[in-house]
Amino acid sequence: MSTKDYDPVEVAVLSEDTLAGYVAQALAAFAAADSLEALKQARLDHAGDRSPLALANREIGALPPAAKAEAGKRVGKARGQVNKALAGRQAELEAERDARVLVEESVDVTLPAEHRPAGARHPLSTVSERMADIFVAMGWEVAEGPEVEADWFNFDALNFGPDHPARQMQDTFFADPVDAGLVLRTHTSPVQARTMLDREPPIYVVVPGRVFRTDELDATHTPVFSQIEGLAVDKGLTMAHLKGTLQHFASTLIGREVTTRLRPAFFPFTEPSAELDLRCFVCDGKSDDCRTCGGTGWIEWLGCGMVNPNVLRAAGIDPDVYTGFAFGAGIERALMFRNGVEDMRDMIEGDVRFSLHYGMEA
Ligand SMILES: [Zn+2]
Repeated sequence: MSTKDYDPVEVAVLSEDTLAGYVAQALAAFAAADSLEALKQARLDHAGDRSPLALANREIGALPPAAKAEAGKRVGKARGQVNKALAGRQAELEAERDARVLVEESVDVTLPAEHRPAGARHPLSTVSERMADIFVAMGWEVAEGPEVEADWFNFDALNFGPDHPARQMQDTFFADPVDAGLVLRTHTSPVQARTMLDREPPIYVVVPGRVFRTDELDATHTPVFSQIEGLAVDKGLTMAHLKGTLQHFASTLIGREVTTRLRPAFFPFTEPSAELDLRCFVCDGKSDDCRTCGGTGWIEWLGCGMVNPNVLRAAGIDPDVYTGFAFGAGIERALMFRNGVEDMRDMIEGDVRFSLHYGMEA
């Protein structure tokens, strides 16, 4: 068969009219597709491998070489029209979908927020930090020490004689084996000795931390409790500096000026020693049944005094050149009189409602 004998128009599926019909059907189907899913089906039907145009395209292969070019051009034009219409409709439907998603997935900022309880810091932590901050604001440093302590630091360095009753088993937790010489520290004072060995005067440190004694747990005792210890060593320090410092400490903690008084006391590591009482800031001493002071008008809080020269000597500091003052305050006790907590057991039970109630300050 020569090329002159062949007219591609006569091959039915390749005729201009037939191809135009396929294009028209495809364009109508794309226009009718109202979703990307529907358009996908229309694409398979009219532009896929089994579509009329694809089948017509295959017929070209059977044509004589001279006729292929013209038929190919005709089918290619038809397929171009279909693909262009398909791409256009695809873009339209995607734009509609995107607009719909924007509306459906938009966030209503006026809806009430989901409530997730955030927990709370323990009030012992917040009060302890508040106390330390009062001293940091005066230029003091915060120091820390180990909770399992050598008994030399816990007792000997602090002028506790070998027969001091605090060394007895009924007061102190000894680490096993007993002859290892390790105790759970019974106060934060060993950090005083460590600090004095560690650095040269002038020394101004405050030491918050946990301490341990063999007390039974009840409303006013717990075997694990918290102290904050202060130590100042410098030239010329006197009881007046001690009283002024504690006066400022107490007033800042309570939030208004409070009256303080010192009562003589005895501690091995200070001489002279005193206990500091606060004038009851609730009843001002005018109520016989005040719960904060028990009707006495005074709140007993902390022990203090001038550092015993023996303690300075044990730490290698010359007591003829330097003097010092120290104090140790119970943090649980402060939480009781300052925030009205009545039972120490509440502080260690870990009920978050307790922390939420008393832990409001940051
Ligand atoms: Zn009172």
